[in-house]
Amino acid sequence: MTEQSEHTLDPQNWEEFRQLGHQMMDDMLDYLQTLREKPVWQPIPDDVKNHFKESLPMSGSSETAVYEDFKQTILPYPLGNTHPRFWGWVIGTGTPLGMLAELLTGAISAQVGGAEHIGTYVELQVLNWLKEIMGFPADASGILISGASMANFVGLTVARNTKAPVDIRKVGLQGDLPRMVLYTSVEAHSCHQKNAEVLGLGRDSIRFIPVDENYQIKLDALRQAIEADKAAGYLPFCVIGSAGTVKTGAYDDLNALADLCAEHNLWLHIDGAFGALVAFTEQSKYLINGMERADSLAFDMHKWMSLPFEAACVLVKSRAAHYNTFTLTPDYLAHGDRGASGAKVWLTDYGLQLSRSFRALKVWMALKTHGVEQIGNSIQMNIEQTQYLVSLIERSPELECTAPAPLNIVCFRYVQSGLSPEALDALNKELLLRLHESGVALVSNATINGQYCLRMANVNHRSSYADFDMLVEKVVELGRALAVAQS
Ligand SMILES: *Cc1c(COP(=O)(O)O)cnc(C)c1O
Repeated sequence: MTEQSEHTLDPQNWEEFRQLGHQMMDDMLDYLQTLREKPVWQPIPDDVKNHFKESLPMSGSSETAVYEDFKQTILPYPLGNTHPRFWGWVIGTGTPLGMLAELLTGAISAQVGGAEHIGTYVELQVLNWLKEIMGFPADASGILISGASMANFVGLTVARNTKAPVDIRKVGLQGDLPRMVLYTSVEAHSCHQKNAEVLGLGRDSIRFIPVDENYQIKLDALRQAIEADKAAGYLPFCVIGSAGTVKTGAYDDLNALADLCAEHNLWLHIDGAFGALVAFTEQSKYLINGMERADSLAFDMHKWMSLPFEAACVLVKSRAAHYNTFTLTPDYLAHGDRGASGAKVWLTDYGLQLSRSFRALKVWMALKTHGVEQIGNSIQMNIEQTQYLVSLIERSPELECTAPAPLNIVCFRYVQSGLSPEALDALNKELLLRLHESGVALVSNATINGQYCLRMANVNHRSSYADFDMLVEKVVELGRALAVAQS
């Protein structure tokens, strides 16, 4: 008889592994506690990039060696979104609690696609809490998902299947049906176009409606587009409203959209990726009046709820519509009455994924630990800090805001009289790169009315008011140096 060997991937020496685990925990807590002392961002040296071209490791090395590698080559070169002065794009910051929740999630490695285990019950409770926060009824449906792009994808898929005059799951878009058309504003997020393309609707089926001076969808233009499409024999089926646009943080008039959708029998989907989260605040939740009238709602929790990536949610008012879009039960996934397959709800029936991570755990822990109030306080703080930054910009003769800043986003730029529009664009482009390279603060950019500008998006619970003073000082300093060089 040949000798049998065991090939477990568990540690060979648990005691050493335990020590390494404690060391990692201490190091990461130190790291999070001292973020402010580090540059926001720094360039990745070529030798570090080359390190990631090493060949496939056929035999392993010690956990300690791999961890050392992580500390040398990975830890120093993040994008910087955990730093108090990171305000680029709309990227969340994470929390120490979220880190610990990810540790626990990894330890139990739950698969929350189906079967009878506690993960499903945690996710259902989290969904119930999120429905309550967002003003959705208790019998609405929903699912946690990787990000708002995917949450919007689910919402649009349910809308398409529900409003199609044929059984889309059977005949697809090859059946006998008029062109299905959807509407959103020119300021809406790019994921909607990708989603419409992937869903077979095609981007020619999206009507990008213009916005008014507050960057809200123009209702009269929307109405005209719907009527024109109807007259042309098309099938308008969905409006995607924005609760917080990515460029300026604008909210469409959600009640007006709900009225218009009711009048024309259209599905109202709302993209509230970050903007829906004002639901956590007392002072700012008026902004989402009417959002509760949507048929479906997508929002992120890795942005303004500060959970570590990835975490988002889609809510669908009609459970039947949601379920009928995605349910499919082969015999090997049969939902039993007893034993480990005896679960009433299999979350795989509400989305594309079968295997699903237990992302509900970190949401559950964050809601229980911080409560709605603490999360709301940090969101409200970000809104007020943003107004503070606007006041600093307005007081500075060399800076100007380039769009209204109703929420947590400010578009602004450095200006100097005597410089042409092209020169100002070039100056601000270079200014942004130098700001990144300085490591002092990180904002991204946008184009507003054809002008290149800096864009600060604040979903950062670590920022203090003084951090915005530092941003303005640095931008002015860099802008002056560039203006002198140009004149
Ligand atoms: C970020 C964002 C998205 C995309 O969300 P991901 O989580 O990055 O997939 C969609 N819409 C808006 C308004 C956003 O801000």
